[in-house]
Parts: sequence; structure tokens; C-alpha cells
Amino acid sequence: MKFPLSPIFLLASIVVGSSCGQLSPSTSSLEYAHSPGNRILGTPIGHLEILRSGMSNNFGDRLKICVESEKTTISNASLLMETKLAYVMWLKSAGYSAVDFSKFEFFLSSKCNRQDLSIMTSIVIADSSNAQVGEEYNTLFSPAAISCQALAGSFRCSSDGGITLGWGAAASLSHSYFVSNPEKWSNISRNAQGFAILSQYVDWTSLPAGIDGNPQLQGAVGESLKAKYSHLLTLENQNFEALAAYASELEAAQAVSGEDTQFQSLFQQSAQAGSSISSVTYRPKYAAFHVLLHEIGHTFGMMHADNPKGDSVTGASATTTLDPITRQYSTPISTMAYADQYVYLTADDSLGISSVAKTSRSEVALHK
Ligand SMILES: [Zn+2]
Repeated sequence: MKFPLSPIFLLASIVVGSSCGQLSPSTSSLEYAHSPGNRILGTPIGHLEILRSGMSNNFGDRLKICVESEKTTISNASLLMETKLAYVMWLKSAGYSAVDFSKFEFFLSSKCNRQDLSIMTSIVIADSSNAQVGEEYNTLFSPAAISCQALAGSFRCSSDGGITLGWGAAASLSHSYFVSNPEKWSNISRNAQGFAILSQYVDWTSLPAGIDGNPQLQGAVGESLKAKYSHLLTLENQNFEALAAYASELEAAQAVSGEDTQFQSLFQQSAQAGSSISSVTYRPKYAAFHVLLHEIGHTFGMMHADNPKGDSVTGASATTTLDPITRQYSTPISTMAYADQYVYLTADDSLGISSVAKTSRSEVALHK
């Protein structure tokens, strides 16, 4: 006997999401962290495992990713390719292949309709001119402001209250089950899209600008990364192998994106004038990819490595060390932490996403 669709759980991710401000690594313990089993199947890997198992579902066999187009500071081609690149990084790191990637369908749209449940995830740079999406998303973010002051012979600037750059969450699923055995699910449906949203108060640029902004990536390595990026953009078929090869290049270079150039120039102006400034609003300028990679990480169920929540699965990371004084385990070497602007996935990220895959497989086996 079958029940009609009976959602007995709703994923917290649809309302909770994960805000991404700036945390201080020095005050938190760093481990990998991800959503627990009962919330993991809304992730892309959860969806893949559902498809692989043949479980009955209402979303079909294509995993659609809407990428909202027509932004002012990053081209459609770059935003689309960088989105694909982030997906390939997380999937490859979790042990998935070109066959799995072929189930994904990335497409540009001037407006990603959040109510269209045939779409698994929307990737959006919030935009106040976008009424439908903007109204909802604009409230997530605030303009950045900087304050600077001279202190004991030095000059310091800081962002007021930190800056929230993005927000991300997995899709939400519900299921119906057999009354004779509620652990066995008869059908799965999607009841909310996943999303990765970037702030409308930042001028987002493409990855090569982030490479240019990092002094350590000047010279042959940076030039090669930029040339290969340009080449990828020209490819008609940006397939798994080509994107994975580029991901390997970024990893080999241990590439980190440059800092906000607007903050730096305001700092320099204020320091040269020797004048304090208070809460001056400005628009940060960042290459988007490290934030995209992090927010898309949230859509994969990854949580903040430097701030594991009580309801997450956590584990010690590969490069975790124990601070002998505070007795806290910590590592700054993670995309899901805030220490550095990684544009590749670290060993810690790999351990975390591998755990997501393992947890997803267990969850599917439990309910198949
Ligand atoms: Zn985050």
C-alpha cells in the first residue's frame, strides 16, 4: 500500500541557508563539516545517488542548473563556465566522473524562476533590478562600509561588521513511503530549489582578475592559468575532462584569488592623507570564483569548516593541527573556511565531500 505524497520531513536548508560573512579563524575550531544524512539527498550528489538507485522521483533524470545572466561586471560566458568548473571540482573530488557530470544541464536565463521545481539549483548574483528574484535575495545582503583610524603610530582600516558575500543551500526534497515499512520510500519529490547567491553590493569579476590581483601568481604560472582559462572559454564543449584538467592546474599552483582592490585603495588613500574615516560605504571588487566555489559547496551540503554546527557531520581534516595552548584543532586550508580565497579544493575539502558521498550512498541504501 502507498501513501499519497507525505512529506514527513522538510529540509531545514530551504529556510536556514548558510550565510557567509567573515569569521575570525583564530576564535574557532576548524574541521570539515557537512549536513547530516537526513538532509543530504537534496545535494547534487544526493540527486545522483537517487538516479543511480533507480528510486522513483518527480524530477526526472536531468539535473538542471540555472545560471542567471546579464550581470554588469562578469560576462555570461565566464559566469557559466566558472559555475561548471565549481561543479566539476566538487564532483571530481568526491569520486564522480564524466558520466555523472553528463546528467547536469547548465543553462543561462535572464531570470531564474525559483518556483520552477524542475530546476535543481539556481546560481544568482543578486540584482536590485530583478524584481522577482531580487526582492527575495536583496534582503540577504548589505552594502560594505570601511572605517580607518590612526592608532599608536600605525594606520588601520576595517570593514564595519564584516561583509556577507554570498549565501548557499541544497535543494529540499520530500518523500512518500510504504506504510508497511516507513523506512522504504515509494517516491521522492523536490519541494524547493537549491541556490547559490552572491551579493549585489560587490563588483564581481572573472577568475583571471583574481589571478592578476594575487602578487604570488605573477609570472609564468599566472600567465599560463590565464591563457588556459581563455582557451576554455572558447571551447564549444566545456566537458568534464577539460574542466577537470583546469581544476588540476589551479590545484597544482595552489591558486588563491587576490584581495579586494577597492578596500586596498581606500586604505592607501586614507593612510596617505593621514585622516580617519568612519563608515564610508564602498563597493568591494572581487573575482567571483572563490565565493562561487564556497557557495556551491553549500549546495553540496558542505558547511563551514571553521564553525561546525551541532547538527552537522564533522571530521578532523587532513591538515588539522592541535594548538597546544587552546587545545583546539584548526586548519585554515579549506575552501569552506575563511582564511584564504582558495580557487581549488584542498585535501580538507576532499575529505569533507567524500564523506558527503559516503553519507548519501548510505542514506539511499537505507530508503531504497
Ligand atoms: Zn559559507
